[in-house]
Amino acid sequence: MTISEALGRIRADIAEAARQAGRDAQAVRLVAVSKTFPQEDVREAIAAGQRVFGENRVQEAMQKFPALRAEFADLELHLIGPLQSNKAREAVALFDVIHTVDRDKIAGALAAEMRAQGRTPQLLVQVNTGEEPQKAGIAPREAVDFVARCRTEHGLAIAGLMCIPPVGDIPALHFALLDELCRRAGVAERSMGMSQDYETAVRHGATLVRVGSAIFGHRDYPA
Ligand SMILES: *Cc1c(COP(=O)(O)O)cnc(C)c1O
Repeated sequence: MTISEALGRIRADIAEAARQAGRDAQAVRLVAVSKTFPQEDVREAIAAGQRVFGENRVQEAMQKFPALRAEFADLELHLIGPLQSNKAREAVALFDVIHTVDRDKIAGALAAEMRAQGRTPQLLVQVNTGEEPQKAGIAPREAVDFVARCRTEHGLAIAGLMCIPPVGDIPALHFALLDELCRRAGVAERSMGMSQDYETAVRHGATLVRVGSAIFGHRDYPA
């Protein structure tokens, strides 16, 4: 299957899952996760009409995207990987949406950079819904307070929440938890669902699905 065919199939799946859930398919945005894949593959996706891309490393995105952005003014770039505060400057300069705010240090660093650069990327808080020690994200029980603290202490508007369910768990349980936390925090965007489970995520209210290998093919390393 070509990248273009894969995108067509995934868009159709999203529309069907939305229809089944009584949702508007327009409310779901497909983030094409291009990490580890070369610029030519991104170009192929652009030629197929895709404009929203996700990368999980600031450095890799800085190599791949500035040239494409200069050519395609309507590209939208999302940071979906963990952010270190010493990369906040580059992240604010390059990304339109950052999915991985998960602690006060990062919130403070982003707030300072947003003031300095006059740029306001949309921000989501990553929630470690499986409470896995090795995984980034704020604990579920702290998520609602953290969103409030981003507003009151850091002056940051948080648009939504993001999660990555543990491998081997039933993803629907994590999507339902994220949906509930979004309600309680009063935020609209739900970033959830990847190649294996994006249809389930759409049925549980995802507004952003992050799909990589189902579009671009198998990755040799998880990066
Ligand atoms: C790599 C990655 C994805 C995409 O994963 P696939 O299984 O290839 O669709 C989604 N979200 C995050 C945070 C990722 O790092």
